[in-house]
Amino acid sequence: MTSTQVVNPATEAVVATVELADEAATDAAIERAARALPAWRAVAPGDRARLLRRFAEEVDADLENLARLEVSNSGHTIGNARWEAGNVRDVLHYSAGLPERLLGNQIPVAGGVNVTFHEPLGVVGIIVPWNFPMPIAAWGFGPALAAGNTVVLKPAELTPLTAIRLGELAQRAGLPENVFQVLPGKGSVVGARFVTHPAVRKVVFTGSTEVGKRIMAGCAEQVKRVTLELGGKSANIVFADADVERAAATAPYGVFDNAGQDCCARSRILVQRGIFDRFLELLEPAVQGVRVGDPAEAETEMGPLISAAHRERVAGFLDSSTTVAFTGSRPEGPGFWFPPTVVLPAGAGDRVLTEEVFGPVVTVQPFDDEADALRIANDTDYGLSGSIWTSDVGRALRVSQGVEAGNLSVNSHSSVRYWTPFGGYKQSGLGRELGPDAARAFTEVKNVFIAT
Ligand code: NAP
Ligand code: MG
Repeated sequence: MTSTQVVNPATEAVVATVELADEAATDAAIERAARALPAWRAVAPGDRARLLRRFAEEVDADLENLARLEVSNSGHTIGNARWEAGNVRDVLHYSAGLPERLLGNQIPVAGGVNVTFHEPLGVVGIIVPWNFPMPIAAWGFGPALAAGNTVVLKPAELTPLTAIRLGELAQRAGLPENVFQVLPGKGSVVGARFVTHPAVRKVVFTGSTEVGKRIMAGCAEQVKRVTLELGGKSANIVFADADVERAAATAPYGVFDNAGQDCCARSRILVQRGIFDRFLELLEPAVQGVRVGDPAEAETEMGPLISAAHRERVAGFLDSSTTVAFTGSRPEGPGFWFPPTVVLPAGAGDRVLTEEVFGPVVTVQPFDDEADALRIANDTDYGLSGSIWTSDVGRALRVSQGVEAGNLSVNSHSSVRYWTPFGGYKQSGLGRELGPDAARAFTEVKNVFIAT
């Protein structure tokens, strides 16, 4: 076993030392999960529901502690961290409603009766990135447990603390042993073993498109089920008929929330030509007004980046040839700070337009008409989210239907509701999480014909 030092990105202080599982420990955890499976899948749906509800209640009772832990591990603002812990609770409550609703069909046939069953897959391996450690984990384990699977969860090496705590809360809630295990470790060790170990029947991966492609290729070897939630390069499209003041005032929230380390970040702002200059004029004070600083303070709107290495990577998108329109503020002293930054891209092939920055950097570019807006918005390999600002209902619907992305908002930047489906088009992912079908993604459909 090796260990890792967990660092607070706002102070650079070490906050914890965490043991990392090696391959043998990973195999042992997977095998424990496999042994726990028969008893767990046999638990009556109502009893599974009760356990998930109790788990939700434990999370609720621990909400402030979980939120503070996330602030110190991930540098999330305390407001966001509370929302994230609350999201875990809500996903668990919602998941508790699913076991009794995993309905099959009775399909008319001649000479007998035909029924379908939704059966659990088996052991599910969940791999989580560092940007939203709590919600992303819960979107996998809530529905997976509801459907009768056992789960091994691998948090990101940089952000394991809240996942470890959630594992303790599951125990406290009375989930049977080894039904839900949390296994901190490296992606190349623990995560890679989820892909190759035959007892793991599904891998749920959230992270970069690059690693996601490797996971999918690896899973092909055993035709292993996979859900992928990958990167994004989403457009925030502002039409001239929109409430321009509100569009400009909220645009920073659409991209700089979580310091831009958000797969749904609206990192490309497209503005109709007639209002382009006016929009920039309004955007400047909005960006300069973003309160960047100590994430533990209630008023803070943006914290630090996750690590020094990630800050380097973000800074790498800006060089001497980049036209920076304006920037917001950043604190002095320790911490991996980066100011909100607005860039005017050089041209269609500019890296800052094609690659996911995953930091507080946004581009602003003009468009002519609806067709031009759609052409630019869809000129990307990604397709996760996006926003459309207009006062014309017909246009809102037309453009929503034209943007190739899984999660859109009109006159808003909100992307996530645990009772609605979430996921990406194109290289932003495969499959959907959350929503009414969440548990089905963790089942096989069995068809049985009974001759009469
Ligand atoms: P990453 O490098 O792809 O890592 C994500 C997770 O995969 C981590 O737990 C990592 O472990 C693990 N991993 C790395 N290499 C692996 C391998 N060979 N086999 C198995 N697992 C492996 O991504 P990141 O840098 O942490 O996160 C940022 C990315 O996630 C962005 O591209 C972002 O858009 C995407 N994201 C997408 C969504 C979505 O829902 N679509 C949500 C959030 C983030 P270690 O880090 O511990 O080594
Ligand atoms: Mg990485």
